[in-house]
Amino acid sequence: MYDVMVVGGGLAGMTSAFLMAKSGLKILLLEKGSYPQHRVCGEYVSNEVLPFLKKHGLFPSHINTAKINRFQLTSTNGRSVEIPLILGAFGISRYAFDTYLYERCLSVGVEFLTHTKVSKIKKKEDYFELSANEITYKGHFVIGAYGKRANLDKLLNRDFMNLRSPYIGVKYHVKTEFPDDLIALHNFENGYCGVSKIENNTYNICYLSHRDNLKNSGTISAMETSVLFQNPYLKTLFLSSDFLFDKPLIINEISFTNKKLIEDNILMCGDTAGLITPLCGNGMSMAIHAGKIAAETLTYFRANPSSRAQIEQTYEASWNQLFKSRLHWGRQLQRVFGNKMTSNLVVNLAKIAPSMANKLVSKTHGHPF
Ligand SMILES: Cc1cc2nc3c(=O)[nH]c(=O)nc-3n(C[C@H](O)[C@H](O)[C@H](O)COP(=O)(O)OP(=O)(O)OC[C@H]3O[C@@H](n4cnc5c(N)ncnc54)[C@H](O)[C@@H]3O)c2cc1C
Repeated sequence: MYDVMVVGGGLAGMTSAFLMAKSGLKILLLEKGSYPQHRVCGEYVSNEVLPFLKKHGLFPSHINTAKINRFQLTSTNGRSVEIPLILGAFGISRYAFDTYLYERCLSVGVEFLTHTKVSKIKKKEDYFELSANEITYKGHFVIGAYGKRANLDKLLNRDFMNLRSPYIGVKYHVKTEFPDDLIALHNFENGYCGVSKIENNTYNICYLSHRDNLKNSGTISAMETSVLFQNPYLKTLFLSSDFLFDKPLIINEISFTNKKLIEDNILMCGDTAGLITPLCGNGMSMAIHAGKIAAETLTYFRANPSSRAQIEQTYEASWNQLFKSRLHWGRQLQRVFGNKMTSNLVVNLAKIAPSMANKLVSKTHGHPF
């Protein structure tokens, strides 16, 4: 019988597992993939997580992460504005970051099963049963940290699974000429593309596009030429970069709708609880922060037993306080991007009133923790 079983070894799952194991809880983490692995992500991590990562030895200081403190925004037709980033960020590939967290989890005694896809979660009287690879595991609590969309959401009959989402995500690693300290967000019709440095003089290009762009163009490469290249910054970037993957990494059905935080007594965490639009650039720091509060809640109540309802209320209150408003602002901002008129309007406003642009950025971010 485990104290907590964590489903999914991304940032939320590994952060929570690490903290709980460090506090002496018996933890099982089940991950369908393995490490290292690439993921579709802009790989720009808001510095709000730095104090926490450094305090717990979770910051990979042996890796030459990029330090990012300037933000460039361009409209679909290439009007550009640049503002300083007050909090800033670091750039690191998920390939390197997740692998480092995986090693840190093993070092504190997390029982980690890779290549293990959870296919069923069943609540019994006062414990859970999980099924994966035809083996059943038992634990007092389950944290659902399996990302934006998975087989389990269907099984749990979660509302958002009935809605189709129009977005696809595409990612590359490239060698290119680009400033080390800049994150650029280039709009194109019905989408936007982020560019920033990660480790080893490599750069991340990651974009979100409406699936109609792909449907109308036929292939990813045709869509890039006919839609993304309308923004001159993207045309120059794509044509002058050396692409390191054989083919792009692609995901689809990316949904930003509300999700329930607790389903069948499972505490949802990270993207499983709600995904902030990537243009905010802080889904990763939110996943890490959510992993922290899930771990703190369960560690506290393991030492001070209480009803399941009390535990769930405590988690929900902390989560809402930290993330509810940010997700709301993220959703509002998402509407403004990927449109010629509104993207030009935002660029012009940011030129006239950069402090307002910084205020908007701060609405979607938290404080260092
Ligand atoms: C296009 C795009 C760009 C982005 N860019 C940025 C950015 O630049 N900066 C930023 O901060 N955020 C960004 N984000 C958001 C960020 O990637 C996520 O918020 C973050 O990865 C969430 O972490 P997580 O731990 O919740 O989920 P994940 O990192 O997705 O981890 C979930 C894990 O669960 C595993 N899993 C799934 N199903 C099962 C199962 N049944 N059994 C076992 N394991 C399972 C998966 O294999 C995966 O390892 C971006 C998102 C998108 C879509």
